[in-house]
Amino acid sequence: MRFGALEAGGTKMVCAVGTEDGKILEQVSIPTETPEVTMPKLLEYFRDKDIAALGIGCFGPVDLDKESKTYGHIMMTPKMAWRGYDICGYFRENLKIPVGFDTDVNGSMLGESTWGCARGLDTAIYITVGTGVGVGVLAGGKLLHGMQHPEGGHLLIPARADDSYKGKCPSHGHCLEGLAAGPAIEERWGAKGAALADRKEVWELEAHYLAYAIVNYILVLSPQKIILGGGVMHQRQLFPMVRDKVKEMLGGYLQTKELDDMDSYIVCPSLEDNQGILGAMKLGMNALEEVR
Ligand code: ADP
Ligand code: ZN
Repeated sequence: MRFGALEAGGTKMVCAVGTEDGKILEQVSIPTETPEVTMPKLLEYFRDKDIAALGIGCFGPVDLDKESKTYGHIMMTPKMAWRGYDICGYFRENLKIPVGFDTDVNGSMLGESTWGCARGLDTAIYITVGTGVGVGVLAGGKLLHGMQHPEGGHLLIPARADDSYKGKCPSHGHCLEGLAAGPAIEERWGAKGAALADRKEVWELEAHYLAYAIVNYILVLSPQKIILGGGVMHQRQLFPMVRDKVKEMLGGYLQTKELDDMDSYIVCPSLEDNQGILGAMKLGMNALEEVR
């Protein structure tokens, strides 16, 4: 059986077709413009692919409350053309197949828990640090939704005493995204992250904020694994720094086998950057399962 997968991002739409064993048969990338321009192109791609269901991992926030009139819509995104857009409904009506829908980070979390490094785990988190910060949560073996979905990227964080940067989030200033996403790094230090690779103080501060947030996620969710992806995490030197700071900030309060092996606890994604598209495919598989 074949399934369609869409990783809907603010700059590009990755479309793929694959099979239920997690194999991607084909994949294309289409730039994200307005819904009027982009959606027909996506439909054109999926239309004659003989897919049993489609899964979408979408930039957010999105409405995941199945009781809500706006279920499957994109909500308060800064991308104005997409605000309020019924992305799920468009495919359901035009393709007439089950459509699975979740956030992009929940999608990546699902990809890792189905085929990657979080396989078989009960509770784990996937954090992406890129243009924004997003956190996907697996709890009790399922993606966590609650009211809609967690927004861990906006965890409120005090600025460190030696950091006078005001923070970039329009809603909170100082939240994890406002202090530590790619655009915050660029505004604070006056250059893009990739060009700051050898500035030790940049990554020491970045690791501080990431560790601060991660300690709070650990305390609230008790994850068995923490996966860190996104453009900023290409700075691989962050990993050992974050691990050390998490350990230090926890202050010895928790003793678990996972925390004794930090190199396997706080890790990079394991699916060669396919975790998002594979997770979207699994959302499609789950949607088909639900209607059966
Ligand atoms: P998006 O979040 O838009 O899906 P990315 O995950 O690639 O895309 O994140 C883009 C952000 O990551 C930008 O702010 C960019 O400056 C930053 N970034 C990309 N590559 C690197 C790198 N090698 N080192 C540090 N920051 C990077
Ligand atoms: Zn915020």
